[in-house]
Amino acid sequence: MSLWPSRNIWLTRASLGTGWGSISLLKRLDTENYNVVVISPRNYFLFTPLLPSCTTGTVEHRSIMEPVRTILRQKKGRVTFYEAEASSIDPERKVVRIFDTSEIKGSTTETEVPYDMLVIGVGAENATFGIPGVREHSCFLKEIGDAQKIRKRIMDCVETAMFKDQSPEEIDRLLHMVVVGGGPTGVEFAGELQDFFQEDIKKLVPEIADRFRVTLIEALPNVLPMFSRQLIEYTERSFKEEKINIHTKTVVKKVNEKSVEAEVTLPDGTKETIVFPYGLLVWATGNAVRPVVRDLMSKIPAQKNSRRGLAVNEYLVVQGTRDIWAIGDCAVAGYAPTAQVAAQEGTFLARLFNNMAKTEALEEKIRHLSSSLNLEPGNSAEISQEIAELERKLRRIKDVKPFQYSHQGSLAYIGSEKAVADITWFNGNVAAAGSLTFLFWRSAYVSMCFSMRNKLLVINDWLKSKVFGRDLSRE
Ligand code: FAD
Ligand code: NAD
Repeated sequence: MSLWPSRNIWLTRASLGTGWGSISLLKRLDTENYNVVVISPRNYFLFTPLLPSCTTGTVEHRSIMEPVRTILRQKKGRVTFYEAEASSIDPERKVVRIFDTSEIKGSTTETEVPYDMLVIGVGAENATFGIPGVREHSCFLKEIGDAQKIRKRIMDCVETAMFKDQSPEEIDRLLHMVVVGGGPTGVEFAGELQDFFQEDIKKLVPEIADRFRVTLIEALPNVLPMFSRQLIEYTERSFKEEKINIHTKTVVKKVNEKSVEAEVTLPDGTKETIVFPYGLLVWATGNAVRPVVRDLMSKIPAQKNSRRGLAVNEYLVVQGTRDIWAIGDCAVAGYAPTAQVAAQEGTFLARLFNNMAKTEALEEKIRHLSSSLNLEPGNSAEISQEIAELERKLRRIKDVKPFQYSHQGSLAYIGSEKAVADITWFNGNVAAAGSLTFLFWRSAYVSMCFSMRNKLLVINDWLKSKVFGRDLSRE
């Protein structure tokens, strides 16, 4: 399809989401060229890599949030923001249906936003695979609210376990923290939780020193399957030392109010059901497609065979459409659903759209000069030279290469001030683990924080929790 349709410059470019993809697009987009509308139920950008640290108070949640309004204020052109959720997209009429999901409602709670060009960056929701009881009884770890809920529940379990005359079985259940999913989210959370217990809870509530347990359940034979073999082994060894129980080849089949039922595959291939009583259950089994994306996919015949999200071409255009692009976790472009990918896709689209606007301006100028050729025959040589120069410039701008992801490496915190890193180095791969890697992990993530304000707040939180310990109050 043509990437360079001719049209008026003042187009409405609607963007759904304020996550990694959309915000990196917005940051670099020349908003003077478009009438930009941003729609998201979240009026802030969330720095997800430090979200597991918020569950224990190592980092405070506001330190990793950046208000959208602050970001918009830095743009030269005007950008409209609607705090709303997109419920459906009509690609025929080119409108997005939005509704107010916030607590306070005005007289209008639902309306439509027309668009000329639409970028979808709504991310993904939590996968539950339809397993009964997951939504009712477990905590997810994707949003700020999830981290706050977990933080409260950890301390609720501890204080309830200390309740007068609590039975020993109930104390063991309440102090059993179960994490389902051994991907990076589950591993990082388990590490942060064990740190919280070792460094703070144990000191202030010594009565539970021998009872608090963290268990990680993973369906595959190993945790962190995307990391190299030696880092997987390092993580599993380190968890053993930290006394985090790992149950691999164990698939959770049902979640009850106070226990999970899982099926474990034994070495001889037979299967056995194990029941894990829990006080806190954190569910981290990856991504699923959001309803608004699923609904759009059902309206586009070319998306019929796509299962994991909107299939896009090499310019991130949604297959089967002309004016819709998709980035980040909601797009299927052949890359892992990570912040790195989403951010690079957003940057790519900003360059593409900036070029499109420049192209249209140049084309307009060439049209104007061409028409003046006949009117000013005396200046024709000069005008023709100017046209040729502009046409050369136009060809250069139009020559945008397809999106190509550049992998910088993978990093994960595994607790006890240790991290693992698979880093791309001169076309090769370097695997590193331990305390120095932890310092690298911290410096890499602090340098990636959205603003100077975020960076300083995060560093301050790290210092504060190291010097004074984490806060055990339950808000
Ligand atoms: P998101 O960042 O999830 O943003 C989606 C946006 O869309 C949000 O603003 C949301 O409110 C909005 N939205 C949702 N529904 C609608 C709707 N219906 N209408 C309008 N807007 C909507 N990746 C890494 O590379 N490195 C890491 O260290 C890392 N750590 C992570 C830690 C955790 C705990 C988690 C959960 C993920 C982590 N990831 C990491 C993955 C990374 O966060 C995601 O890949 C990334 O956020 C995807 O960006 P996105 O823009 O597609 O979606
Ligand atoms: P994931 O998809 O990476 O891992 C989920 C794990 O849950 C899988 O290993 C799967 O086998 C397991 N699982 C699924 N169903 C199960 C069941 N019923 N019982 C037991 N185990 C089950 O999910 P995630 O960790 O949430 O990560 C999502 C994305 O975000 C990934 O692309 C990841 O790379 C990225 N991320 C990256 C980082 C980092 O780089 N540090 C941190 C967090 C997330």
